[in-house]
Amino acid sequence: MQFQEFKIENLEQFPKDLETMLARQLETIAGITKNDDFTYAGVLKPLQDLDEELENFFTPLSHLNSVENSEETQKAYEASLPQLSKFASQIAQNEALFEKIKKISSDDLEPKKVIENNIRGFVLSGAELPMEQKKELEEISLKLSELGNNFSQNLLDATNAYELIIENERDVEGIPESDLALARTEVEGKTVYKFTLQAPSLMAYLTYGPNRGYREELSRAYATRAPQNGEVIDQILDLRFKKAKLLGFESYSEYSLAEKDASSTAEVTHFLEELGRLARPQAIEELAELKAFAKRVDNIEEFRGFDVGYYSEKLKKEKFDFDNSMTKPYFEQSKVLSGMLDVVSELFAVEFKAVEVPVWNEKTQPFDIYKAGELAGRVYFDLEARKEKRGGAWMHNWETHFTDASGEQHLPSAFIVCNFSPSTEDTPSLLRHDDVVTLFHEMGHGIHHLFGTCSEHSVSGVNGVAWDVIEFPSQFLEAFAYEKPILKRFAFHHETAEPMSEELLNKINDTKNYQAALGILRQVEFSLFDFNLHKALFQGDEVQELLNGIRETTALLEVPEYNKFQNGFAHIFAGGYAAGYYSYKWAEVLSADAFFACTDESGFNQEKAEGYQKYILNKGGSEDMSSLYKQWLGREAEVESLLKLYGIGV
Ligand SMILES: [Zn+2]
Repeated sequence: MQFQEFKIENLEQFPKDLETMLARQLETIAGITKNDDFTYAGVLKPLQDLDEELENFFTPLSHLNSVENSEETQKAYEASLPQLSKFASQIAQNEALFEKIKKISSDDLEPKKVIENNIRGFVLSGAELPMEQKKELEEISLKLSELGNNFSQNLLDATNAYELIIENERDVEGIPESDLALARTEVEGKTVYKFTLQAPSLMAYLTYGPNRGYREELSRAYATRAPQNGEVIDQILDLRFKKAKLLGFESYSEYSLAEKDASSTAEVTHFLEELGRLARPQAIEELAELKAFAKRVDNIEEFRGFDVGYYSEKLKKEKFDFDNSMTKPYFEQSKVLSGMLDVVSELFAVEFKAVEVPVWNEKTQPFDIYKAGELAGRVYFDLEARKEKRGGAWMHNWETHFTDASGEQHLPSAFIVCNFSPSTEDTPSLLRHDDVVTLFHEMGHGIHHLFGTCSEHSVSGVNGVAWDVIEFPSQFLEAFAYEKPILKRFAFHHETAEPMSEELLNKINDTKNYQAALGILRQVEFSLFDFNLHKALFQGDEVQELLNGIRETTALLEVPEYNKFQNGFAHIFAGGYAAGYYSYKWAEVLSADAFFACTDESGFNQEKAEGYQKYILNKGGSEDMSSLYKQWLGREAEVESLLKLYGIGV
């Protein structure tokens, strides 16, 4: 059997079947833990087979729950989750198994990495601590998840508590009708416009709202949300610091790096400062242009933070006179998909062949992948929006390439899911350019998994790849979606079959680079604040002082004193990004550098692309990414490449 068939026999029965499988797996694990076999083949090999068995079984349900959501899928999914988390914690607390794994060794690269990862996982969950500290760690983790919840709840309450009612039509002139329709409401028989601090509403006014006073009011309300989170932040930072110390780290930043690609806290800080330094000169120019524009059109003397979005949009319109509706007729979904598959085929010498196999929805398109004539993987594209599908776009890996304990080879499979506008009887599905970018992005994740050739399950494909480099292959492929020679392959008008004009092709790239340096500087500010905040213990006013210090180089406009941006920084205080926000840019440097290595004036550099496949995609998580990168190009990725990608001269 090459691939699993996509099907779930009985949703109602699913949680029961899962329970049976997990109970059987726990028995197998107990057997492995107790026997006298201390070899890799006898312990870690069969353990990974269990992972694959569980993923093969569970992935179709989580996938179905996302793309064909129904009461039945929800019920089955919700009944499964607690079972899975209980199972995971039973394994994490299996000390006898940990002791056994510590005694296993191997000289082979992949098994060595699997052993290392396993030990690290146990250590980071506190397996080596004395009982008392283990309990302390558990309490800290519990308290931290409570505090994260408090942080989001305070933020949510504050966001929902505010509204701005605008009565005068003149104060909403220029706001797109789709945004206005959402704001329009009746108060005592009168039509008024209600703006809130929810992102779409806030962004609509800050980008298009003509009344400067209202823009100031909204941005002040936004920047002063949830003042009580200041206290929550202190508690979170204190506990994170304690947690890191308990586990033997100098700081929470150092703890965060234990499972990441970046090797030291100094390296991350240096990288961010360097990126900021390189982007700053152009950012100053971009801001100067914007200020001059605001002075020219509205006689703005003192340009402020709440003016940035509004005048940026107006200047963009003046400079490019360009929007999505102009390119959309040229991006017909079926042409874009086959064009993208052609690009991937050429770059990596593979073939995609449409197959007829069971799918969850008739719009799903499955393809088998062949390398040198041999079957190598399967990918399913499910690209159109529908009511039962959750929003957004993602790649979901299903099967993995590996060799199991009995010596049998398994092939990988993955789902690529997007939410493009659906086709109707009269019109095909047409994509915006950012949809095209999204498709390339998710396919980049897809080939990272599908081109994996490792033998060990837990480091094959996207398995075991560090969090700060997981976006490298996706952003790498994404960069191709702005290139003229690539777009020319599939950008034909869906009615006239005319190719897209040079002018439009140029505008696609120019608008990507618009105010790119200001954007980078902003990301550097967020990342540096997050990372340095976790390098020591900061409390009370020290948090604000740290941020002010960073802003001396990253903020080109004066930030008002009332601005407490940190109280709303949910990514790091209520999400998984603590001391990890830098990952966005970290991975992007690799993507940009790799992109330039694989392209030259004539198009693809075939030899380099082959190397990218061999050293990066094939190797999955079997070695650290920076080491794979060096093996590929004989050097490290250069920060300058990222700036070059955005047309920033350095
Ligand atoms: Zn991604």
